[in-house]
Amino acid sequence: AKKRGRNGYFWFEPAMETELRFRNELEGAIRRGIALDEFVPYYEQQIDLRTGELVGFEMLARWNSPEYGLVNPDVFIPVAEENELISELSESLIRKALNDAKDWDPRLTLSVNISPVQMRNPLFAQQLLHLLVETGFPPSRFEIEITETSLHENLASVRTITTSLKNQGIKISLDDFGTGYASLAQLRNLPFDRLKIDRSFVAELTNDEKGAELVEAIVSLGQGLNLPITAEGIETAEALEALKSLGQFKGQGYLYGRPEDASTTKERLARTGLS
Ligand code: C2E
Ligand code: CA
Ligand code: CA
Ligand code: CA
Repeated sequence: AKKRGRNGYFWFEPAMETELRFRNELEGAIRRGIALDEFVPYYEQQIDLRTGELVGFEMLARWNSPEYGLVNPDVFIPVAEENELISELSESLIRKALNDAKDWDPRLTLSVNISPVQMRNPLFAQQLLHLLVETGFPPSRFEIEITETSLHENLASVRTITTSLKNQGIKISLDDFGTGYASLAQLRNLPFDRLKIDRSFVAELTNDEKGAELVEAIVSLGQGLNLPITAEGIETAEALEALKSLGQFKGQGYLYGRPEDASTTKERLARTGLS
């Protein structure tokens, strides 16, 4: 905590000072990283669970930092969101992803995560559509994932953005479904194409009966809304079987593979005849 020092100056306790210094250092490193183009898209397979067929990829951001190594987004996305860096970072990642995905089999979709901060920007839809035009990637194969957090922060703006993207043929998924506070009315009134069940629920699925019931409840909610479902975080054959017994879903998770960089993804597609 902040305390008043002997001479009336504020000083920070060592732990907080260290934390602050680290944050500032991290912010500076992220800025340099953007300038030096150190951020790269990784891709996680999305599978039709019934047929086992690969149907697309979710792009997940990674930071290839000479200082810190390969950094996960939970570390840098929150900092980028606080410092107005997220839009620039996201634009550069999506551009790279669209160019990578152009080389994939035309049946495969590309899905990207959009921050609540971006969903507040009234120009966001135009900027995203511009990227599709620029790269020549078909909107029908493109999907955005937005979280429930976006909805309670800026519902009006979310409605405008999702409606205009949907009109251009882009698909809209509600990410981390079940972890937020979206009301049924909100879900019904926004043009969602799909729900993604958060991996925390999928992890519970094979834990005990309560976990399984919870997932069942979420699934029937989705079915009640007439929305197809993707389950994330499928790690075991057991979880996969449990999901398959609940319905026909898409899914992703370490059972199928970890997120991989563009060239590894390309090699994977070449092996399966999907490039
Ligand atoms: P998310 O969208 O819920 O993505 C799923 C996360 O779960 C990813 O972590 C993925 O690597 C991880 N995962 C996938 N399968 C499994 C599994 O079977 N078991 C376990 N334990 N984990 C699994 P990652 O890549 O660290 O991403 C974390 C979050 O960062 C994402 O959560 C997403 O919200 C955010 N994020 C990633 N890339 C971007 C981006 O470009 N823009 C924005 N705004 N957010 C991003
Ligand atoms: Ca996601
Ligand atoms: Ca998330
Ligand atoms: Ca999630």
